[in-house]
Amino acid sequence: MKRRVRETFERQISPERTCAFCSARIPAGHEVFGFGAKARPDADIERYRGAGIKITVGSLKRQVVAIVTGRDSPAARAGHDLYFAACSESCANALKAALEEDIKGGGLLPT
Ligand SMILES: [Zn+2]
Repeated sequence: MKRRVRETFERQISPERTCAFCSARIPAGHEVFGFGAKARPDADIERYRGAGIKITVGSLKRQVVAIVTGRDSPAARAGHDLYFAACSESCANALKAALEEDIKGGGLLPT
């Protein structure tokens, strides 16, 4: 059951198989080092459900692509509004660190 949920989730994000941090393409079948995050309560993300959006990361001074979780996806049920895909653990960790400042302010604000 757990495995099925994961596969469903990966299929859901498969159109966006690009690393949010270094923009490398993540080959099909390659492990995705993704993680979820919350959007700010005032961010209007409903209309982007299931699609990719750009988020400005203050500490990086650039935009990164985040996937807005589908309304009934496992990630959404886990409390995540946004999902970031990364090509490697080091990219995921670097992006997480960069996002931390923004998240401290109560969540991320899509642009
Ligand atoms: Zn990367």
